[in-house]
Amino acid sequence: MNVRNPHPSVRAGTPPMTMSGLRRSFSLLKNYRGVAFLAYFSLFISTAAMLMVPQITQNIIDAVTRGLVAQKIAALPAAFQSMALQQLGWTAEQFARYRDGGVNAVLWSGALIVLFAIARGLFAFSQGYNAERVSQGIAFDLRNRLFEKIQRLSFSYHDRNQTGQLMVRATDDVDKVRLFLGQGLLIALQSVVLLVAALIILSATNYRLMLTILPILPVAMAVFFVFSRIAQPLFLGVQQRLSHLNTILQENLAGIKVIKAFVQEPVQKKRFNQAAEDLMRQQIKVSRTFSFLFPFVFLIANLGQALIQYAGGRQIIEGTLSIGEWQKFSMYLFYVFFPLGQLGFVISQLAQASASANRIYEILDAESEVKNKPDALELPPIQGRVEFRNVTFKYFGSSEPALDDVSFIAEPGQTIALLGATGSGKSTIINLIPRFYDVSAGSVLIDGYDVRDVTIESLRRQIGIVLQDTTLFTGTIRENIAFGKPEATQEEIEAAAKAALAHDFIMSFPDGYDTRVGERGTTLSGGQKQRIAIARALLLDPRILILDDSTSSVDTVTEYQIQQALNRLMKGRTSFVIAQRISTVRNADQILVLDRGRIVARGRHEDLLEESPIYAEIYHSQLIEDVPAVALTGASATG
Ligand code: ADP
Ligand code: MG
Repeated sequence: MNVRNPHPSVRAGTPPMTMSGLRRSFSLLKNYRGVAFLAYFSLFISTAAMLMVPQITQNIIDAVTRGLVAQKIAALPAAFQSMALQQLGWTAEQFARYRDGGVNAVLWSGALIVLFAIARGLFAFSQGYNAERVSQGIAFDLRNRLFEKIQRLSFSYHDRNQTGQLMVRATDDVDKVRLFLGQGLLIALQSVVLLVAALIILSATNYRLMLTILPILPVAMAVFFVFSRIAQPLFLGVQQRLSHLNTILQENLAGIKVIKAFVQEPVQKKRFNQAAEDLMRQQIKVSRTFSFLFPFVFLIANLGQALIQYAGGRQIIEGTLSIGEWQKFSMYLFYVFFPLGQLGFVISQLAQASASANRIYEILDAESEVKNKPDALELPPIQGRVEFRNVTFKYFGSSEPALDDVSFIAEPGQTIALLGATGSGKSTIINLIPRFYDVSAGSVLIDGYDVRDVTIESLRRQIGIVLQDTTLFTGTIRENIAFGKPEATQEEIEAAAKAALAHDFIMSFPDGYDTRVGERGTTLSGGQKQRIAIARALLLDPRILILDDSTSSVDTVTEYQIQQALNRLMKGRTSFVIAQRISTVRNADQILVLDRGRIVARGRHEDLLEESPIYAEIYHSQLIEDVPAVALTGASATG
């Protein structure tokens, strides 16, 4: 992937290991203070409940063993009894309690274990549920901020960044940050609490035994760390291959017609198979590595247990350790290894989340080249006079200017036809009027206002755009026509649709204006979409219009109707038309002939035809004839 990076200081592919993005994501937590507190509080309770269980287990075992011993002593002749008690260091009162209390202690401890298990379950639920609420909330906030930012970023930013990359950031990267802030942090905290508490309890229970297993801990930590270091890139590899597979799939679904037209099915099938095989191999590699690594991890844990069995067993024989303590010790040992493993996992999660957070903030921090000046004016309702004054424009990263010292004036109500070969700069002129880009030199003036001095909103609201490739959004036809003016009444919408010659075909649908289009909606033809786009522009009633008069492949009747609709739309407005048809240039008040970013000829049709060889050439070879109205007499098709 060759992604041009907007920030040269940040090399693509290798995100710097800085925490700044993640640190800034933390501030998102503050919106969820209450819920986060609940999650952390629940975590402490459930962890405490977890830590209690080995202690109770010790109590049970000790009560049972002492009870057994006490009963054995009770069976001895009285003379030996006092000797045995002396040997054990028990008072007569203790002896009586141990002898009779064994069963009771077991019952009580059993009940306590159940109680703690319930508490642990309840608080673990509360922890998980609240953590998820926090993490989904953070993801929600991040996605909204990204969406808002991506909408505000200039065309220039979007030229430099692939749509796919931006999508990955709004989905994958947000998810990684979400997982870490919502769960990773909690797990890390729990691990630390568990680890520290277990180590303290172990030392307090039996210092010598603790010392025996101490050397294993750094080894375990090293193994877990290596484990996550190996595992992380493997999982990353799986993700990358999966996303590659998805890209191929998506391309194939979107481009299925092209693929079939060019008979590329076998090639595409091979590409897909290759990607699928890559994914499978990586998955197998993951499971192979894991099958190899897991025994190591268990080996370490078992080594710890074996040491406890041996050293503990000896201490029991020496009488410095009770069986209960022994059992407790080995249970707490699990609470040492378990968090070590978890920490290894969280550390790798941290690295990923940190890289993701940095990528997210790279977008959130990106400056839109086109933005309102602090003292920007509201553009008052305009007449529609457009002036380009010595405009030069260069796209980011290109060496040649796309427009070179272009000057012209369009008076209110005039039609300006733009003509020229592909790449001559027609679209670029059109992009500068609504300030999709800012000029590199010179200025664009509307009614005498420099477009950079007025607010973008007040400027764009007064410019209507109808391009050939119309985007309709998922929703009803009504919503699509009222896209720029959601408060429009049904009468206004219908009037616009009628003027755009769209009303009839809309009414021919069973649901009329409520017909759903877009994803899972009715499919509209190119001509129908175009007329909806014209109705959309008519509804806004802008003083300045930007048009592309080429029609997508439609039948002659539809084409005629589109031309009629366009003519109505252009009437009385300053219109810029990327001209494709003869009628447009013939009716134009001014024709601008562009060649490599310069205006090489300008004027009306009759004059240019005589004066400009380039114009004559384009006129004769590239423009298309209109559909003559006579050919359509009696035509009443709805397109
Ligand atoms: P036309 O519309 O007449 O075909 P354009 O205005 O689209 O021409 O393009 C003018 C020049 O600017 C061409 O050389 C084109 O390659 C270049 N260009 C157009 N759009 C971009 C862009 N987004 N980024 C970089 N260069 C561009
Ligand atoms: Mg173009």
